[in-house]
This record gives sequence, C-alpha cells and structure tokens, in this order.
Amino acid sequence: MRTNTTTPQRTAIQLGGFVPFSASDYPNHLVCVAFIQGCNWRCGYCHNPHLQSRQPHPMAPQWADITDFLQQRQGLLDAIVFSGGEPTMDPGLPAAILEAKSIGFKIGLHTTGAYPNRFKEILPHIDWVGFDLKSSWAHYHDVILHQQPIEMVQRSLALLLDSHCDYEIRSTLHSGLHQPEHLLEMAQNLAAYGVQDWVIQNFRTDGCIDPELLYAPHEPQKILNEDVLQTLKAYVPNIQIR
Ligand code: SF4
Repeated sequence: MRTNTTTPQRTAIQLGGFVPFSASDYPNHLVCVAFIQGCNWRCGYCHNPHLQSRQPHPMAPQWADITDFLQQRQGLLDAIVFSGGEPTMDPGLPAAILEAKSIGFKIGLHTTGAYPNRFKEILPHIDWVGFDLKSSWAHYHDVILHQQPIEMVQRSLALLLDSHCDYEIRSTLHSGLHQPEHLLEMAQNLAAYGVQDWVIQNFRTDGCIDPELLYAPHEPQKILNEDVLQTLKAYVPNIQIR
C-alpha cells in the first residue's frame, strides 16, 4: 500500500535585512527586527531606499536563519518586529508571523496599510502595529510617488482601529512636503476615525537620497509651532513630538 508523505512547506519571505536587537522599534519591548525587501511607494524621505526594490539581495538573510535565532533567544527578547520596505507586500508574511508566534514571540509590525487584504489576514496574530500616516488624505500623493488609491490606506486604518491590537499612528514631517493646513487636515482625518493619540516625528536625514529634501532647509517651526500644536490637539488630544 502506498503512503502519502508530505514535505513540510518552508516559509518563503524575502528579507532585506535583520537587526538582532532593538529597544526602539516596539514601545517598552526588546525586539529583533526583520526588514522585508520591497516597497513601491518611493517616499522622498525614505530612510531605507535600498529596501524599496523587490530585487533579492545576494547577501540577504534567510528566514530559516531568523527562526534559528529566535529559538536561541527565547526568554531574552519579547518580540520580533516585521518592518521594511512594506512587510504586508510579501505573500510569505502570514506564514512567517505564525512561525515566530509558535516559537513564543510577540509580533510587531511597521506598515503603511498599503495592502489591506493581507493586513486583515494577519491582524489577529499581531500584538502591536506602528502605522505610518503620510499626510492628509488630500495630500497623500505629495509624499508617496506611487499612485496608490488612498482608500487602501483608509481600509487598513479602519481595520486596525476595529481590532484589539495595540498601535501607534505616526507621521514624519518635512516642511517641503507638509504645511500647517495639511497637519490640520490630518488631525481632522484622524478625529473622524476616533483616534486620540498621534506621534509626530521630524524628518531625519539618515538614509534620505532625495536631494530636494536633503538640501532644502527643513524648518519644523514653520509648520508646527505651539499655536498649530494647540489647534491640532482640539482634534487629537494626545500628540507626542519626537
Ligand atoms: S513607505 Fe516607508 S519604506 Fe516605503 S518608500 Fe516610503 S518611507 Fe520608504
């Protein structure tokens, strides 16, 4: 009699980098960070432009090595964070999340919300999401170069807020991309979703390869002074500036 033997399927996820220790990628957690290769949004201020292409890097870490690492770090790290690039672009992400979870790790995710269907699939298995809000809905394409329909981001944001997952909504500002009126619209957009907390981060030059943003003077005080901040807080009461 013939017996059916099934070979366990290997998780295929395309990594572009791995950081074995971080205390700043998931609030109050010690984590490692797996960077997924690929993001087609092409933001000028991107810190990781080498991760934008979906082309595999010959020296890229392999997921099997990461799971070995996780086995050895049980009890020493709290979580693995999937970052990028845009992690939800990768069809291997759900399997990788389940595998890391089965080893005993909490799961963090950095995302733009670009792929709401995959986001919906993985959300029940995620413990914390850092959600990047790029601009007001009306000015999103001032920041992202890809003609992504904004409805995709709105769907992901709604899914996140309807879930029981912890999250942080954060936005990176550059005075060449954002104006005070854009910030006001962002606050109003967030208030419409019932969001109470918002992290605003200033543009940093590391990794940025866009000369227009790199060499144009970034003048945060022009877009976010105390008066603007108080106006924003009328819509989103808890705003943290980083
Ligand atoms: S969404 Fe993030 S990873 Fe993608 S291009 Fe923009 S900053 Fe870079």
